[in-house]
Amino acid sequence: MRRFYRPANRAGGSLSSAAVSGGTARGFRATPVELDPPDLAPWRIGNTGIDYVWSFTAAEPGPHAMLSALMHGNEICGAIALDRMLYDGVRPVRGKITIAFCNIEAYRIFSRVDPAVSRYVDEDMNRVWDQSALEGPRNSQELRRARLLRPLIDTVDYLLDIHSTTNVNPAMMLTGIEKKHLDFAKAIGFPVYFVRDAGHEGGRRLRDYGHFADPQSPAVALLVESGQHWAKATAETARETAWRFLAATGVLDEAHAAAWAKRPRATQRVIQVTDRVTIQNDDFRFFDTYEGFEVIERAGTVIARDGGKDIRTPYDDCVLIMPSRHFARGQTAVRLGRFEE
Ligand SMILES: [Zn+2]
Repeated sequence: MRRFYRPANRAGGSLSSAAVSGGTARGFRATPVELDPPDLAPWRIGNTGIDYVWSFTAAEPGPHAMLSALMHGNEICGAIALDRMLYDGVRPVRGKITIAFCNIEAYRIFSRVDPAVSRYVDEDMNRVWDQSALEGPRNSQELRRARLLRPLIDTVDYLLDIHSTTNVNPAMMLTGIEKKHLDFAKAIGFPVYFVRDAGHEGGRRLRDYGHFADPQSPAVALLVESGQHWAKATAETARETAWRFLAATGVLDEAHAAAWAKRPRATQRVIQVTDRVTIQNDDFRFFDTYEGFEVIERAGTVIARDGGKDIRTPYDDCVLIMPSRHFARGQTAVRLGRFEE
């Protein structure tokens, strides 16, 4: 038995017959590509010595707040949000704002016909953020870019990494397990869902890099999953999250910050991730078509099969978070969690 949590949040019903579908898999509804990838050429030169990376520093000292997009080259909502923010001429009144378009090489090969292929060039750029990979002998397009960005990231106090999901599920802030992350996510007050998770076995994300993961350091990094990759609303969610994030860091002027802080806040819900299902075999299959945010009522319900072994829910009212559609050994298939607040 399962039920969906807040089914009204799930997209659907607005499919245009002319729309191109992206990221489809057997059993899933085709998802139209409603967003246009912006031309980022005007931002190539940067002002930091790193292409596609801009920093603006106020005369008054303050924190360094960084917004990053395109960690995955096909997640264009963040590119749209930050492109607009640059055109709007965002500037800090104190501290520093950095805007970075990360995996630009992957973004270059973005195609509306097959948008999933531009996630990365050589490897997932959001799995390379540990010291051993960054300082090791291995090389890839993504590692080279990460190594270029790293000295700048080492100076960041607040980071928001903007993503989107293949699945049609509500936006969620992935806050990590440290209290400082949850506290700061609450200060942002957006979107409705916070998911507290420890990360992937497949490699470290930027959110969990260095000082961000250190409970002794005040530095905070959050990852927002803004909604489905190609849905129009996803770019709006990314934009709102980005501005609210800046307002919460204190780098904006009072009038600008207040304009965002005044917007109505929804009651926020916290989902604690308790388990990750990591794929062990080549024949991994889900038992049903899951999009995410399904609540499985009974403990012990079979949700997947992996190498002849049943994967069961560990407790009643178990929430499925971001079930994958692409199954590869060593990768996360789904996270399991429960509502905490
Ligand atoms: Zn992503």
